[in-house]
Amino acid sequence: MNIAILGSTGSIGKSTLEVIRQNIDSFSINLVSANTNHELLLDQCEEFSPKYSFLHDESSRRLFEENANKRGIKTSLIHSMDDLEKAIGSAETDIVVAGMVGISGLIPVTSAVKSGKKILLANKESYIVAGEYLNKLSKENGASIFPIDSEHSAIHQCLNSTKNTSDVSRIILTGSGGPFLDKPIIDFASITPQQAINHPVWNMGKKISVDSSTMMNKGLEVIEARWLFDISDIEVLIHPEGIIHSLVEYKDNSLLAQLSVPDMKIPIAYGLGFPGRINSGSKKLNLNDLGSLNFMEPDLDKFPCLGLAIELLEEGGTSFSVLNAANEICVQAFLDERIGYQDIYEIILKVLDRIEIKTVQSLDQVFESDRDSRTETLSIINQL
Ligand code: MG
Repeated sequence: MNIAILGSTGSIGKSTLEVIRQNIDSFSINLVSANTNHELLLDQCEEFSPKYSFLHDESSRRLFEENANKRGIKTSLIHSMDDLEKAIGSAETDIVVAGMVGISGLIPVTSAVKSGKKILLANKESYIVAGEYLNKLSKENGASIFPIDSEHSAIHQCLNSTKNTSDVSRIILTGSGGPFLDKPIIDFASITPQQAINHPVWNMGKKISVDSSTMMNKGLEVIEARWLFDISDIEVLIHPEGIIHSLVEYKDNSLLAQLSVPDMKIPIAYGLGFPGRINSGSKKLNLNDLGSLNFMEPDLDKFPCLGLAIELLEEGGTSFSVLNAANEICVQAFLDERIGYQDIYEIILKVLDRIEIKTVQSLDQVFESDRDSRTETLSIINQL
């Protein structure tokens, strides 16, 4: 199997290469791409000899080429988005790992879907902002999508033997509850960026750590799950240990769950190996050591962002891209100490109120509402 890894120098990309090292006889790399990290990209080219590489940043491209010559690296460097899309869609690529961050990932993800690839999707923005559109494309072109998000991979695994989604009564999406699960609501106004990026279970980037603390991440995951599995009955359950990654309830009231240590290599190995199983290189889960697992309902007064995202399931259309963009701007403003912790929710609510929501007919509409939402959010923040 020949793999294209988009965002190969990020955390998902690096974990993917770790899984591939464990299974080096079954996989080869066709393409690696990154934003600016030309040094690590060169190391990856040296180790895995992909046919193509790509860097979004032009000056990084120059440095890559200079050093590739010196080191005798034969990988050819792609210079345009068009050529990148061609390499993704080419018959040489069997699997596309979408590990890049942000809404710009939607374009390469769309070309992978259009060319009917097997896609390991860590770029959750794609399915949040354009899920309905991508589902249609995916059905037309026979693409298959394996989410690289612990919860959605768990749901995929629990649904695996299901022929008919009408046998499913609901999805139960678990979440650790983040660092402020036990913090009294009265103390929320004084939460600092440093406190918010300190996640108890997962070690992640700053943006997603803040999203976990507000539970907006769980809300976005509800939207992602709705489109990935075409099931709208989704509940969120707090499970602080982060061992059960999600559950599926069937109409006979049977519940299936997937358990493992929290490690992204497991969803990656599941996607790469499907329909078989391959070595992930992760630690084994020892239930005996754990002793007990805990569950509780989420407190929507403390975490209104979660309730807001769930409410938007009814609204649909471009509301998801407005939500996603407003949240991104607000989280950055909070990290920059321009707004308070609870302003994140208040500002997003205002933006959703001010921007007209439409049905999604094209990607252009998604990008347009994303831009409008960013502009509106910034103007609200600047007026504070
Ligand atoms: Mg997750």
